Amino acid sequence: MDDRLFRNVMGKFATGVTVITTEIDGSIHGMTANAFMSVSLNPKLVLISIGEKAKMLGRIKKSKTYAVSFLTENQKEISMQFAGQIKENREAEFDWLNGMPVIKGAIASLTCNVVAEYEAGDHTLFIGEVTDVHFQEDAEPLIFFQGKYRELKSLKESVHS
Ligand code: FAD
Repeated sequence: MDDRLFRNVMGKFATGVTVITTEIDGSIHGMTANAFMSVSLNPKLVLISIGEKAKMLGRIKKSKTYAVSFLTENQKEISMQFAGQIKENREAEFDWLNGMPVIKGAIASLTCNVVAEYEAGDHTLFIGEVTDVHFQEDAEPLIFFQGKYRELKSLKESVHS
């Protein structure tokens, strides 16, 4: 199958946008990811998928922990920053949850300990057992659909027009 066809079809699956963070020896590394899912309620497990070329891969293998922050509709630039799409060096603002760095102002954040990892083709899946969570009530999520950022508002408007 053609790679472009596969990517186009996967792009038809609308997702939220997260930033994965981890810390090693006081150094914080973050990476934008939309390959995130909730896996199990008892125990509470989630899953992320990290590409073989991402620096994040080696960092999580070493730290054995990661945090996930779900971005709000106002955090598109943060997504671009942590996807390496903004060339200038920018500072990032972090909050702390259970001793781990998370993105300040995210709609929700959670921290995890890695309990399993599986190589799957050119990605590695990390199952995390959730150790803490935080969320805010009144915020709207950033959406990623067909390779572009969207807001729930504009999706609703286009459905009703
Ligand atoms: P780098 O590319 O070196 O780091 C990413 C950027 O984050 C750096 O350029 C830097 O600006 C910033 N940064 C990192 N740490 C800090 C810090 N402490 N302070 C300030 N800035 C910092 N890839 C996947 O493997 N899995 C996915 O699920 C996935 N989903 C994606 C979804 C979207 C919507 C997008 C746009 C990209 C996605 N990617 C995904 C691609 C991934 O985000 C990029 O390939 C990313 O550049 C890989 O990061 P890296 O770990 O190699 O580190």
